[in-house]
Amino acid sequence: MQTSSLWQSGSRAVVGSGEPPREADFVVVGAGLLGAMCAYWLARAGSSVVVVERHAVAWGATGRNSGLVIPTTAEAYDQAVLRLGAPTAMAIRQLAAEGAGLLGQVVEEEHLTAEYRPGVFLQLATGEEDAASCLADIEATRRHGFEAAWLDRDQLQPRIGTRLSDTIPGAMMLPGATVNSVALVDGVAAAAQRHGAIICTGVAVEAIRAIGGGKVSVETSHGNITARIVVAAVNAWLSELFPLLGKVIRPVQGQLIATQPMPAMFDCGMAAQVTAHGEYWQQMPDGTILLGGCRSVGAPVTDATAQVPQPEVHQALQGILPSLFPDLTEIGVQRGWAGAMAFTPDWIPIVDEIDESLWAVGGFSGHGMPFGASIGKLLAAHLTGGSPLANLTHLRLDRPTLPDPEAEQLR
Ligand SMILES: Cc1cc2nc3c(=O)[nH]c(=O)nc-3n(C[C@H](O)[C@H](O)[C@H](O)COP(=O)(O)OP(=O)(O)OC[C@H]3O[C@@H](n4cnc5c(N)ncnc54)[C@H](O)[C@@H]3O)c2cc1C
Repeated sequence: MQTSSLWQSGSRAVVGSGEPPREADFVVVGAGLLGAMCAYWLARAGSSVVVVERHAVAWGATGRNSGLVIPTTAEAYDQAVLRLGAPTAMAIRQLAAEGAGLLGQVVEEEHLTAEYRPGVFLQLATGEEDAASCLADIEATRRHGFEAAWLDRDQLQPRIGTRLSDTIPGAMMLPGATVNSVALVDGVAAAAQRHGAIICTGVAVEAIRAIGGGKVSVETSHGNITARIVVAAVNAWLSELFPLLGKVIRPVQGQLIATQPMPAMFDCGMAAQVTAHGEYWQQMPDGTILLGGCRSVGAPVTDATAQVPQPEVHQALQGILPSLFPDLTEIGVQRGWAGAMAFTPDWIPIVDEIDESLWAVGGFSGHGMPFGASIGKLLAAHLTGGSPLANLTHLRLDRPTLPDPEAEQLR
């Protein structure tokens, strides 16, 4: 098991270096998908923007994920409707759909490859009860005007290049895409640089404070930067900079394996609930399968700095494909790693101005790929042109579904 992902360890163009300047209009802290996207749209609008990243571009969750872009809520959509109410659930779902589209748009406009493959996503049902849950999800999704369909076993089997277990009655099909997340964020960060952004890696932000006069001071390991507006896009590490946010953002460790290359079997992102929190995978163009999940098998890890894989989770991940596809008895594993996700109590992200001109964004609850793209663009448009926050208003800290009574005071 390793401390970095397959994509992070591959050969990459190095994006970013150098000392940060002393002043900027905008400082974005963190160079995951959200930080890179936000900086990209800010720079594209002609603003002076500096990205400050403690390690390297895509060092955090984005660089360690499985690259599934699924334009829906982090929990089943019918459950999100029950928990959040229809208007909020629809707004979040819309943000996810917009984000998935935006990823494709940026890939095309900036000529990135990033192994981006648009298509569908399949959530396999692992029994009749699970099938009923999928059907409820599909019904709520379609009722609100979004795309979803049920494939029964006979329709599903031809889409999969290996025999399905008898226990799988069908699958929910949604639009979706797969991508190499590290290549994507490297490409978006490089595009932001071409549009004028300065990307500083190996520079840690130690404190951020509003200093009056419409200015914010960003204290870094390499000196202070005075900015007009700061966006803290550090996801699982938000509470390091803003301890009160620890009440609403909880780091949760996720874990993946990469198999040895296998014959082509899966041509889209897939998921199935084999263990309590579910499993998910994509097969890359070279045949390698990236598979994550099984986190209920290990002890909960809520320390974002750890990112150390657990042997029992690693072992359990190796049993997932054989349990769903009985002919896959021989699975060779080339790598295993872990990453820090960030969960909120109501499973939707936080986007808010927590002090004058200081924005905090994060808490993607294991589902940040579509949201990173749409939130990055909407926030940049709001900060540069004053365009309305639109659906982002549902993500403020004073929303009613954050149960912590102190949450309202965090804003
Ligand atoms: C194992 C795993 C599998 C996942 N699978 C999927 C999936 O298939 N699909 C999906 O949609 N989502 C998935 N997710 C979730 C998704 O990866 C995240 O929601 C998303 O990448 C968050 O992006 P981000 O830019 O907000 O944060 P991150 O990518 O975590 O980036 C935050 C950055 O901030 C930097 N940073 C932190 N503190 C500081 C500081 N003080 N100073 C400077 N820099 C700092 C970090 O180094 C890091 O690079 C998965 C996550 C994990 C861990």
